[in-house]
Amino acid sequence: MFDIVIIGAGIIGTMLARQLSFYHLKTAVVERNSDVADGTTMANSAIVHTGYDPQDGTLKAQLNVQGARMYPSLLQQLHCHHKTTGAFIVACGKKEEEHLSLLMQRADQRGIPYRVLTGQQAIKEEPHLSDQVTKVIDFYTTQVIYPWEVALRCMENAVNNGTKLYLNTEVTRIEKRETGYRVHSHDRFFDTEMVINCAGVNAPLIHDMVDAHRDYEITPRKGEYYVLDHDCTPVSHIVFPVPGPAGKGVLAVPTVYGNTLIGPNALECDGDDVSTTPQGLQAVRKAITKTLKDMPMGHNIRTFAGIRATSNRHDFIIEEVKGAPGFIDAAGIESPGLASAPAIADRIVHQFVEPRLHPSANPQAETTVQPPVIMSELSIEKQNEMIRKNPLYGKIVCRCENVSEQEIIDCIHRPVPATTIRAVKKRVRPGMGRCQGGFCQPSVLRILARELGIAETEVCLNEPGSTVLVRENRL
Ligand SMILES: Cc1cc2nc3c(=O)[nH]c(=O)nc-3n(C[C@H](O)[C@H](O)[C@H](O)COP(=O)(O)OP(=O)(O)OC[C@H]3O[C@@H](n4cnc5c(N)ncnc54)[C@H](O)[C@@H]3O)c2cc1C
Repeated sequence: MFDIVIIGAGIIGTMLARQLSFYHLKTAVVERNSDVADGTTMANSAIVHTGYDPQDGTLKAQLNVQGARMYPSLLQQLHCHHKTTGAFIVACGKKEEEHLSLLMQRADQRGIPYRVLTGQQAIKEEPHLSDQVTKVIDFYTTQVIYPWEVALRCMENAVNNGTKLYLNTEVTRIEKRETGYRVHSHDRFFDTEMVINCAGVNAPLIHDMVDAHRDYEITPRKGEYYVLDHDCTPVSHIVFPVPGPAGKGVLAVPTVYGNTLIGPNALECDGDDVSTTPQGLQAVRKAITKTLKDMPMGHNIRTFAGIRATSNRHDFIIEEVKGAPGFIDAAGIESPGLASAPAIADRIVHQFVEPRLHPSANPQAETTVQPPVIMSELSIEKQNEMIRKNPLYGKIVCRCENVSEQEIIDCIHRPVPATTIRAVKKRVRPGMGRCQGGFCQPSVLRILARELGIAETEVCLNEPGSTVLVRENRL
């Protein structure tokens, strides 16, 4: 019997799990994928927006501003990578400058710092800015993060505090019981007092398992991106066009690891379809020329897409389902969902969990996790010391990103272990570089097989069944 079952281990489910693990509560996180943060949390622009964009009076506005203010201490506690890049919102001409005035007004009311630059001043700082740019606001406290690292560390923290994580466990049915719920997957069930629906674009499907009168719709909207190699750094700030009805537009984002993201577009799509299309990518290429010129698109090393859970209420939906006491929806969590996540988790705890379960705080709960060793971030002296103690820290497996064999072994044995090639890639980056795993993937596969005690033919790329080898490799 659990007190709480969280459905979905994206940024919302994992942050909530961490917050709940500070109480004496029995919590389970149930995730259909083979790893945490494999849904929208894996494929987005990775920006902690400061909160100038959402309309007044919305939950988005309130929770974005709050969430962004919670991030710095959270990132520090969990030893997560982040970079303060600032965000240039770029106007071309008088009409767009008027929109900048609205954003400044909102920022003033919400206490968000910014500076204003003329087009010429801005081009001095960002030489690739289009010559059409007339005025720029820089929200200079804006940060970029590594979203799945944050979700993973939150989950590790929660697991260390006693939260149970069930991966490869898709929720298929929910029964209302006299007290609480029975949550079913294909091979087990979980009895629980409360259910928190953090299933991203699938939140309506989970909702419908307990209520036939859902009063919101979610439309999945795809956003496609290019990833440029870190051998070129065309921008040092995030560069946005002036936002429009379709969202924040196509941007350029300098990431934590020095790559540059160009995207996203916004296209309605079917459920979980994260394929990219030539037409979509072409539209991204065209759109970026509005704000930036001479972008080195030839340095593209990968494309990807993420899915927004856009609701017809145009706001986050964080509420108890009518006729289903203790069943809470966290639905419609599109951008700025990442930036708002700490505040969303806080709201669910204070507004729904505390009044219902009256949990007492657990003074033994940890608020941090042991950071992994990252050799490329250590001084030469420290690297040599580590290699003397364990030579596998000196055996480089991924040459693009400089990842050693022992770092891969370490991530396979952490509290939320990497069990697939993609899970290793998300944690320590082999396969993220220019060769996209062409060189290192066979070695990663072999290390996974050895450390997990399985045959090489059983090692999966990501979801169950996605094996890479068809028979034993003799090399
Ligand atoms: C293109 C794009 C760009 C974005 N950029 C930003 C940005 O820069 N800044 C920002 O703040 N926000 C951004 N966002 C929004 C942000 O990424 C999302 O708000 C956030 O990741 C949503 O997290 P989530 O946990 O709700 O959903 P997800 O990460 O999708 O997690 C939901 C989880 O539920 C699981 N699940 C679904 N059904 C079931 C089931 N039946 N049983 C068990 N598990 C299930 C899924 O497998 C998934 O892991 C962007 C989004 C997109 C698409």
